[in-house]
Amino acid sequence: MIDSIMKRLGVSHDLYQNGNYTVRTPIDGSAMGQVSLEGAEAVEERIAKAQQAFEAWRKVPAPRRGELVRLFAQQLRDHKEDLGRLVTWECGKILQEGLGEVQEMIDICDLAVGQSRQLYGLTIASERPGHHMRESWHPLGPIGLITAFNFPVAPWAWNAALALVCGNSLLWKPSEKTPLCALACQALLERAMEEFGDDAPKDLSQVIIGDRDAGERLVDDPRIPLISATGSTRMGREVAPRVAARFGRSILELGGNNAMILAPSADLDMAVRAILFSAVGTAGQRCTTLRRLIVHESIRDEVVDRLKKAYAGIRIGDPMEGYLVGPLIDSQAYEQMQSALERARQQGAKIFGGERHLADTYPDGYYVSPAIVEVEQQDDLVRHETFAPILYVMGYRDFDDALAMNNDVPQGLSSCVFTTDVREAETFVSAVGSDCGIANVNIGPSGAEIGGAFGGEKETGGGRESGSDVWKSYMRRQTNTVNYSRELPLAQGIKFD
Ligand code: NAD
Repeated sequence: MIDSIMKRLGVSHDLYQNGNYTVRTPIDGSAMGQVSLEGAEAVEERIAKAQQAFEAWRKVPAPRRGELVRLFAQQLRDHKEDLGRLVTWECGKILQEGLGEVQEMIDICDLAVGQSRQLYGLTIASERPGHHMRESWHPLGPIGLITAFNFPVAPWAWNAALALVCGNSLLWKPSEKTPLCALACQALLERAMEEFGDDAPKDLSQVIIGDRDAGERLVDDPRIPLISATGSTRMGREVAPRVAARFGRSILELGGNNAMILAPSADLDMAVRAILFSAVGTAGQRCTTLRRLIVHESIRDEVVDRLKKAYAGIRIGDPMEGYLVGPLIDSQAYEQMQSALERARQQGAKIFGGERHLADTYPDGYYVSPAIVEVEQQDDLVRHETFAPILYVMGYRDFDDALAMNNDVPQGLSSCVFTTDVREAETFVSAVGSDCGIANVNIGPSGAEIGGAFGGEKETGGGRESGSDVWKSYMRRQTNTVNYSRELPLAQGIKFD
């Protein structure tokens, strides 16, 4: 099956079958392909080509650049099913979510096409007669993209679609766990480039198949003015100072530890459904996964009972086959989950679920039942992002305490409140409310739309991707003052003669 999907997506057999690095599906641990990891020399060559491609692409008018992204979106529409299946196969999320990821790529392309006619600058009043000032936005350079396994295609597209219309070339280092998805996206973009014509330079977009060493080479190279890196806080802690040391820019999209405050006035039917999707979806492997439920003591027992009933009915199995929860990415993820649960057990927490499933059917696939862990306080274990389906449940009595708990973690990605009390809702999204990049009311913390800026504060890295005015991150701002008079007045009235 892999051959027929890859063929339809336009990936040449050599690229994914003749290498020395085995790519495995988390579904059953079997090999999907063999890719070649690129070393220092290959990366160096690619950076040089990206620089050349940038020099040509920046001259193409922005609305014309938008046309390339429009054609790419058409390729994605035509191949949504195949690419969605590949996402599911390579990273293990259920097919509905695999397809959703491709839809997100299409959505950001549509946004970027419109944006290509709206790279607006300002005109600014000059204090000098016969002068005008304006602000121009220019292409930035080759953009280095480093991505995580759990969203193998959409975050690349959030960056790529905007970076392309902004006049930049792309160098993508995908996760070593999901290189095939990257090869497929690249093949679809190359098809769009063929249709587009000669003004798209050949090396406008390149994929670097490699591990963290390849990522580090991008991070340290001064020819790459912007590194956009998605992954763990550990990775961001290494990347950020290295990019800063060469005065490069970075967009960091790192770990989250997202909470829901569940108030007594909330619509509990809605809340339970929201908890289920955001705590259990993608087998707890979303950066925006709900990890902490801060529930009012008066409804705590009822909510936990309802959740246990809902969790007991979750269908766990092959993500291609209509189950709700697929596998964890690998054995390491499973061990990290078990070690977090063991620590919780030792601390006296009440644990529901968390066991391995289907080990007989898939000895090399790591399926687990999502866990509910009732704890008395928010300690270091709860403050840490364990990238697995563990939902910590804690009680509160006073809304201000709940808000303080929401914010009392090192990460600051997503958050939400379920309430019908307008004071609580508005406080949550106010300056004294949630300290996260995303704060929702009566919606779970995961499943963002592309129209808003996506990202978070504190150890989540501070970056923003996707909608709003994020396009500005992929351009350099220039202030222009033009003198169309015959005099040379100086600013601030300075006399210099
Ligand atoms: P990871 O940090 O292990 O790897 C992410 C990427 O960084 C990979 O491509 C890897 O090769 C590369 N990398 C690792 N160390 C590097 C280094 N020193 N220099 C350069 N590149 C390096 O993350 P993962 O396990 O693939 O993904 C899961 C993590 O990503 C979770 O913490 C999750 O919350 C986070 N994540 C965040 C977002 C977001 O938007 N905030 C989105 C998805 C995932």
